[in-house]
Amino acid sequence: MTATPTRYDVTREQLTELLAGTPRYRVDQVWSGLYTRLGEPESWTDLPKSLRTDLAELLPPALTSVTESVSDKGDTVKFLWELEGGSRIETVLMLYRDRATVCISSQAGCAMACGFCATGQAGFTRHLTPGEIVEQVVRATERARALDRRVSNVVFMGMGEPMANEAAVWAAVERIHADLGLSARHITISTVGIIPGIRKLATRPLPVNLAVSLHAANDALRDELVPINRRYPIDALVDACREYLGARNRRISFEWAMIDGVNDRDSDARELAAVCRRLRPAAHVNLIPLNPTPGYPTRGSSLKRVHDFRDELERLGANATVRQNRGTDIDAACGQLAAGQPVTVGISTPRKAPTGTD
Ligand code: SAH
Repeated sequence: MTATPTRYDVTREQLTELLAGTPRYRVDQVWSGLYTRLGEPESWTDLPKSLRTDLAELLPPALTSVTESVSDKGDTVKFLWELEGGSRIETVLMLYRDRATVCISSQAGCAMACGFCATGQAGFTRHLTPGEIVEQVVRATERARALDRRVSNVVFMGMGEPMANEAAVWAAVERIHADLGLSARHITISTVGIIPGIRKLATRPLPVNLAVSLHAANDALRDELVPINRRYPIDALVDACREYLGARNRRISFEWAMIDGVNDRDSDARELAAVCRRLRPAAHVNLIPLNPTPGYPTRGSSLKRVHDFRDELERLGANATVRQNRGTDIDAACGQLAAGQPVTVGISTPRKAPTGTD
């Protein structure tokens, strides 16, 4: 972290201190510049020139743009950023007819070591600060505005495990909610299944959506696909999900990346449906055909198999949808975010069970 707090890391109190001697209404203007007008302080022309110059120095941005890639006829934009210290992260903006979603990163890299995920293959570098998380939303919002669009949803489905960086993620959620004005119902936190994180989230004051990356509904297979399962096995995970439902009265979604011949069999559908029944009626399954990554040789299921699996789940009483895939050609799809880090080809079985804390 930098000695000077970055632009979106400063709290309102810190901003007041940084601008000591500046009238209160000016501090308010700066705050609304940061969270409402957006863009560079230089462009906030209702502020005196000298203050704008000071701000550029006092509030350095955390994200330096490295590249921006566009696909899906302009409807998907992937941002690659460099952070203080040199690590890199990615953010994805997805424009749909009725909404615009930003997919943000919570860590540079990831320690969870899921073998099929490019971020997992790259390993962990560091946690992001709240400001580094919030600034991703701000920068994507600026891009959306330039296209006459408004960001409506934020999903913590980029690089990293949000529940291994819960405090910073929560501070960012509060800022996104209170200052950027997104409702908690439009914010989704996706976790690999870190039970203490889910429990903590249940005590937080805003009812955000919870998504759990399940991918297997028996411990032997999940131990292999999602190594943290050795620490937080399925039964205990489902209990934590029930507690979250009880506390929140919101739907939980399970993510299931469909891997050819691995977790797309009829027996997998039966096991998954049984888990969903334990959370009835409030569990929903999102099916995604596995996206290709350099370090995992197994293919995604065919679209036909994905749809048949969905039908089978529905027949067994579980709700399921097939998630639309975005940005595969620019490596912006689920599990493909690697921020240009070299990926070792050939890693398919994860090493030891990762710890939940880093
Ligand atoms: N660490 C969090 C956030 C990552 S979200 C989590 O595990 O939930 C990204 C989602 O994409 C997760 O459900 C993840 O399991 C899934 N994913 C990872 N690699 C994938 C791949 N190659 N194809 C499809 N989905 C993948």
